[in-house]
Amino acid sequence: MTRHLLLNRSAGVAVPEPQRADDVTVQDGPRRVLKERGQREVFCGLTGIIWLHRKMQDAFFLVVGSRTCAHLIQSAAGVMVFAEPRFATAIMEERDLAGMADANEELDRVVDQLLARRPDIKLLFLVGSCPSEVIKLDLHRAAQRLSLKYAPALKIVNYSGSGIETTFTQGEDACLAALVAEAPESAPDAAPSLLVVGALPDIVEDQFRRLFAQLGIPKIDFFPPRRSGEIAAIGPNTRVLLAQPFLGDTAQKLAARGAVRLSAPFPFGAEGTTAWLKAAADAWRIPAPHFARVVESGRTRAKRALEGPRETLKGKRIFFFPDSQLEPSLARFVTQELGMIAVEVGTPYLNRDLAGPELDQLDPETRIVEGQDVDLQLDRCRAAKPDLIVCGLGLANPLEAEGFTTKWSIELVFSPVHGFDQAGDLAALFARPLVRQARLKV
Ligand code: SF4
Repeated sequence: MTRHLLLNRSAGVAVPEPQRADDVTVQDGPRRVLKERGQREVFCGLTGIIWLHRKMQDAFFLVVGSRTCAHLIQSAAGVMVFAEPRFATAIMEERDLAGMADANEELDRVVDQLLARRPDIKLLFLVGSCPSEVIKLDLHRAAQRLSLKYAPALKIVNYSGSGIETTFTQGEDACLAALVAEAPESAPDAAPSLLVVGALPDIVEDQFRRLFAQLGIPKIDFFPPRRSGEIAAIGPNTRVLLAQPFLGDTAQKLAARGAVRLSAPFPFGAEGTTAWLKAAADAWRIPAPHFARVVESGRTRAKRALEGPRETLKGKRIFFFPDSQLEPSLARFVTQELGMIAVEVGTPYLNRDLAGPELDQLDPETRIVEGQDVDLQLDRCRAAKPDLIVCGLGLANPLEAEGFTTKWSIELVFSPVHGFDQAGDLAALFARPLVRQARLKV
């Protein structure tokens, strides 16, 4: 049986191609996408708590997990200092395996204790993980049971951050998809409103809010909101603009509520941000001259801020390992706006609907890879000898030891990088490792 197939979706033909067993190369429009299903090197979805808990000020994330889960979020978030942290782990140990009734009682007891100590919590996320004792626990029913007990003062929502089901940024997608159910129904005759979806730092959110208001869009909401009482009403009059490319499940849940997604590249750099804002402006039929006037100063600032990093990065070859699902968008940014050459763009999942506007702008020679087979990918990377490798923490150190220059992809998720005023900072994140490397050589 031939297991290595080149599938041409449109023509429906299959052509053998040398790859590893179970890998396939799919013809996606004009471009071939290699789909790998081997060993992966990515964080689990619990990681999203690190930025989500900063965004939602009256929410609390209770991970129902093991000591490993507790260590992950403690060490990942440990660099930050909080008076009152907004996350914790309810550790389900082996004794809970004796009976699920015990585990449910244990969970209820932990929630009771938490809420007695923290009456300021208005939205509680029960976050599932992968230990077997947690998988057996029905967190959805637990959330319903506890919601009845604490309603209406507290909303309780569950989602999974398990490493079996989610990678890294999928945790945010799972969280926001679950939160859609908490949004009220908008009135059938409500005026069209804009819903910007994806957790953004407050400062970036404020910049976008000002720009949309200057454009003349009357009602703008962000999802998730800063406070749980501010969840926007959703319905057929909602126009959704995704701020992050990894929100496929959330987009589907919003579509099921009748909301209409505006297709656009993502707001990275001068061009990405302009195109993203334009998608909203077009939906509100804002005249082109007015749009140009509103974006002009931000766009000019962004272009100017890119000039310095562009000098460092122009003509340099970059290789993306799959990590955050931001990879196609970032590849579009570094190639189109900084003159880099993308050799390979790996991404854990490729949602063609969401990533399409970015993929269409990448060089046809750039190899696009969905999923991962880390050994094969390392071989391709070594053979390509790129100037800069964007990868997870686990791969960065060994690759640096081999003499490669790397950028930790997690930084690109943690840092404020969206919009005109962050374009220079985003470019600097790519330029800095090369500048440092050049100094070391001197
Ligand atoms: S959810 Fe799974 S992968 Fe993530 S820290 Fe817990 S045990 Fe590890």
